[in-house]
Amino acid sequence: MPEQLSETLHFTKNWQQQLAEAFNNIEDLCHYLHLSLNDLPVSVAAAENFPLRVPLSFAASMQKGNPHDPLLRQVLPIKDELFTYPGFSNDPVGDLTSAAQAGVLHKYHGRVLFINTGSCAINCRYCFRRNFPYSDLQLGKQKESAGIQYIQENPGISEVILSGGDPLLLSDARLTRLLQQLSAIRHLKRIRIHTRLPIVLPARITDELVNTFAQSAKQIVIVVHCNHANEINPRVIAACKLLKKNGITLFNQSVLLKGVNDNIAALCELSEQLFSQGIIPYYLHLLDKAIGTGHFEVSETKAVALIKQAQATLPGYLVPKLVKEQAGAMSKQYIL
Ligand SMILES: *Cc1c(COP(=O)(O)O)cnc(C)c1O
Ligand code: SF4
Repeated sequence: MPEQLSETLHFTKNWQQQLAEAFNNIEDLCHYLHLSLNDLPVSVAAAENFPLRVPLSFAASMQKGNPHDPLLRQVLPIKDELFTYPGFSNDPVGDLTSAAQAGVLHKYHGRVLFINTGSCAINCRYCFRRNFPYSDLQLGKQKESAGIQYIQENPGISEVILSGGDPLLLSDARLTRLLQQLSAIRHLKRIRIHTRLPIVLPARITDELVNTFAQSAKQIVIVVHCNHANEINPRVIAACKLLKKNGITLFNQSVLLKGVNDNIAALCELSEQLFSQGIIPYYLHLLDKAIGTGHFEVSETKAVALIKQAQATLPGYLVPKLVKEQAGAMSKQYIL
């Protein structure tokens, strides 16, 4: 079958099927991208530590024949992951592992992270999650009830942030039940969902899902995770349109990544493309220093210089806040 026709067919499949058919080996992905394994510094050992996983919808936005494609770099297991870098550890944000066990992480004023699944549709090489075997963690019903009870009993909590893993990998039935239970809590104002699915598996944004959101009595805020303008393809645009049409506020957070988006042109283009789809740039994170991710690091000095350039180029509302995660702090640390 011609490649384009088979892609078009693939994108008509439901999200579960698209997820099941995601690339999970390097050879298949290279073949699809018209690259030879010899063109790339791939590492089988890195893939054994943290497998390759990338839905076709995301891979389809990579440039064929380009070994330095910024989307490919986010997902390809390479030899650099095996190097050790000073200051990188297995638990750079620590608390998130304990949150994965306890379900609820109440660290910042008025907001809690509620983690219901450790699974993701894509394996991002720069993610701290790579070092934890919780990829298939599903929070059992009992822990979920305990989490909801905690939120009910704390009137100071005005916002619940569903995080993970990717909370939109939960089934519609499970999400509906969860949103109903949260919506019934009087003191909650907002439900925020941190998800990469509108970008990497936009088929997940179905009418049924959006109806579930629309039925919630609380404001729904979605924070997507897009690192490069090329990630915004026609399927992503359709998904965002459906969300916007239903009154959902969309923000974006990115990670500043060497070889992906660490130049002023890429950052400006990202902000412009996001905003043209109704997504407001929110945070630009410095890398969490997890083992295996050192080759993605951009220095704080360079990050500050880039944001200053962005400020001199873009309207203020298109410049994301430069932040870093610091264990024990009362909020994200604002750098600029
Ligand atoms: C990032 C984070 C939040 C959300 O922070 P905002 O600044 O409101 O986006 C909440 N709780 C924890 C533990 C976090 O790490
Ligand atoms: S948590 Fe987010 S950044 Fe990490 S692997 Fe999942 S989708 Fe990628």
